[in-house]
Amino acid sequence: MHRFITKIRIFIIALSLIYCNILYGEETALSLQLPEISKENLLKHIKYLASKETDGRLMGSPGSQKAGKYIEGVFSEYGLVPADKYSGYSQPFEIKARHLSIDNHLSIGSKIFEQKWNFIPLYFSGEDDVSGVTCLANYGLEIDDYKECKGKIAVVLDDTADKGEKKGELIIKKIELAQESGVKGLIIVTKSVDAIYNNLTIFPEFIPPVYLKRWQSQHPSMSNTLLEIKTTSTVGRQKLPLINIPVVMAIIDGEESTEGLTANIKVKFKDRTIKGRNIIGLINGKSNEIVVIGAHYDHLGIDGEGNIFYGADDNSSGVAALLEIASAFSKAKDKLKRSVLFIAFDGEEWGLQGANAYVENPAFPHNKTIAMLNMDTIGRNKSDEIYILGSLRSPDLKSLNDRVNEKIGLKLLDTIEFAFDYGSDHYPFYEKGIPAIDYTSSYHEDFHKITDTVEKVNIDKVSKVAELIFGVTYKIVTTDIIFDKPKYVYVPFPKK
Ligand SMILES: [Zn+2]
Repeated sequence: MHRFITKIRIFIIALSLIYCNILYGEETALSLQLPEISKENLLKHIKYLASKETDGRLMGSPGSQKAGKYIEGVFSEYGLVPADKYSGYSQPFEIKARHLSIDNHLSIGSKIFEQKWNFIPLYFSGEDDVSGVTCLANYGLEIDDYKECKGKIAVVLDDTADKGEKKGELIIKKIELAQESGVKGLIIVTKSVDAIYNNLTIFPEFIPPVYLKRWQSQHPSMSNTLLEIKTTSTVGRQKLPLINIPVVMAIIDGEESTEGLTANIKVKFKDRTIKGRNIIGLINGKSNEIVVIGAHYDHLGIDGEGNIFYGADDNSSGVAALLEIASAFSKAKDKLKRSVLFIAFDGEEWGLQGANAYVENPAFPHNKTIAMLNMDTIGRNKSDEIYILGSLRSPDLKSLNDRVNEKIGLKLLDTIEFAFDYGSDHYPFYEKGIPAIDYTSSYHEDFHKITDTVEKVNIDKVSKVAELIFGVTYKIVTTDIIFDKPKYVYVPFPKK
């Protein structure tokens, strides 16, 4: 009996060695141990990043500068090198938080409109001061509609009130056609106040009541900055064209004549420029192909009453894991065929601004970027479950996770796949055709609240997710594995 068991044992060991060979390649079959991820270090990073010192890590704030310096310090200590493209570990970028100015003006004939009451500029309107004769152009959805309007101010009807999601797209189409046909300016006429409130006319000073209600329920004490963050990220979700002509929406009663009158449109915004920076460090392999591991380090700053949004789970947990995965790779340097690029993103809360800045000005070409693995809020909810957003779009990358996970024993879930779009910093990479997934423990009662604090983060869970990502990345960077281009999958928001 004993001997039989021994034989079985040997057989099992042999099997698992063969399995390891399949998983990690000849050379490293015996040497790959999943690394010891230091829970002590994870906790140390989270404690610092989610402390009073860093003040909620709002992009552009002194607290965020401190958090960035801390990450750079750890990168340097762990032997990461700057990517050639940038100076040091820093990739600076800027965003604009857009505000209405009181200089905006609309008049048609003798009628002077009042901003916010019966007219509003579009968020991405050109800034200009133009006068001209008005010209009716139907709904403005065909280029022919504008054929009499060149050099004039076109007036089109809004027919988008009940178009739901499509509304923004239709408005954008009108504006693009108007600009193409050479009009001086564009007035989109609507009959009701409701219709001038939409995703393209949203400013901190002019927020659709439905959004305002939702945001106030999430943040009982809204600061001006929170309003800026929310509006900037909401508008940022849309692909906005570059428009030079001034465009406004106006409420005009159907009875009023608007043809052939002299109109004046003036649009001038008050933009606030905010500086952000991604912190980027590299562990060099032998080839110029890379895997990107990302996690955003920015958060929401302070609320209207001065309370800090600590963001311990969102996303100090992800940054801490990123740092310790970097530490593990710095010890495995000699074995790497491909390189690993670590990016702590800024400006995620403002609408994936840091990730967008990176993909527009990347350290390595997109076609050399084999995969992007992102972490965002990984330390809460059930201790053994983690969602992998993007599982359906990159099933081959998900199945590599499943294989590596056999050693780790997490439950890998794809049941909130609908949250993939815009969910976090993986998304701009996906849009560029790079296989990209996001690890997240998803929403919880402290999400985006001042109560997202350190002691609630499950360090064991963070550590397991870090092990998983190390294992997956290790497999990718020590072999020639490639993944299919991600495919578009529509997953609707579940009905309640
Ligand atoms: Zn986050």
